[in-house]
Amino acid sequence: MFRRSALEMRVLVLAPIGRDAALLAATLTALQIETAISKNAATLLRMLDEGVGSAIIAEEALTPDLVHALSIWLTAQPPWSDPPFIVLTSGGRSTRESQCRAQELQELGNCTLIERPVRPETIQSSVRAALRARMRQYEIRSRQEALIQANADLEQFAYSASHDLKEPLRSLSIFSGLLERNYGTLLDERGRELLGFIQSGAKRMDALLGDLLSYAHASSISQDEVEPVEAARPLEIALESLAGAIRESDAQISIGEMPMVRMRESHLSQVFQNLIGNAIKYRKENERPLIQVLARRGDGRWIFTIADNGIGVPPAYRESIFGIFKRLHSNNNYSGTGMGLAICQRIIERYGGRIWVESELEHGSNFFFTIRS
Ligand code: ADP
Repeated sequence: MFRRSALEMRVLVLAPIGRDAALLAATLTALQIETAISKNAATLLRMLDEGVGSAIIAEEALTPDLVHALSIWLTAQPPWSDPPFIVLTSGGRSTRESQCRAQELQELGNCTLIERPVRPETIQSSVRAALRARMRQYEIRSRQEALIQANADLEQFAYSASHDLKEPLRSLSIFSGLLERNYGTLLDERGRELLGFIQSGAKRMDALLGDLLSYAHASSISQDEVEPVEAARPLEIALESLAGAIRESDAQISIGEMPMVRMRESHLSQVFQNLIGNAIKYRKENERPLIQVLARRGDGRWIFTIADNGIGVPPAYRESIFGIFKRLHSNNNYSGTGMGLAICQRIIERYGGRIWVESELEHGSNFFFTIRS
């Protein structure tokens, strides 16, 4: 651990001129800062990979090749990392080319120019500021890592809890079913009503746990590239699953041309099923559901729309309805678990997309989601 943090806080120096290197080494050693002097760009790049607090580069060493290699290295840095560079310049005596290269490095990242002749005090304060900045970046990284771990633990907990709870629930359903079948006639009306409450409670719990499991599954979708699939196929699967609800509500569903998208078929069909299912469920009383499923291209992605003529979403709830267990209606009016949109959001975001709703209360809703083409 100590070794890693020492590598991460050391100052790398690339100074082909011996005098600069000696002055920098003496100044930094006096401050008890771990310093590594490299004589060429290749060594510097290798050491950067091992960990760096700050790097001091003499302007003369900034060749076009080094600037190019640094730009590749900086682009590959994780989002929290912006390593501080200090470039020693020769001020007015610098050549135009070396000025340009120092400027290029400045545009690439966190770069400070110090003009020669270099005073030890200037180096000390610049290096201290650079290391402080780097330390803050490491703190951000630690917090991000802790957050990722906490999220993973929570997802694992949700998964195990919902999985393990299914077993006793199954017993509850089976035994209450047996009770009804074998002893139902011995119960009076109130007894049968109470048994009915137990059974519908178990059914609802089963739906909630099922959705919680789907949510936990969606959280573990890998972010690896997937092969493109025709969106028409998962849409067809979703419509097959909704066949009963479509028939019962007499919903009219029109479908535009469907593109190829980079998403697993089962995930896309789950999204379609939840959104089209909602478009049917949240229909207006005495009005035939009219639903459109469309896709249009926009900015390297496909934007899908599921439009309905249903009851609409009040403006104040257009973001919160995507939350876990968030429902705007009681189970008596519209059945559901409040997990459908949360699952859709999880899936879409795992693929780097976005999902949102635009709606007029009482005038239908348009749910949008994006997927990379
Ligand atoms: P559920 O349908 O199980 O309640 P969802 O997460 O799918 O859970 O939806 C959350 C809430 O968003 C719903 O309770 C409903 O109030 C609202 N909603 C979702 N889709 C629509 C829609 N197409 N029209 C109107 N309201 C909707």
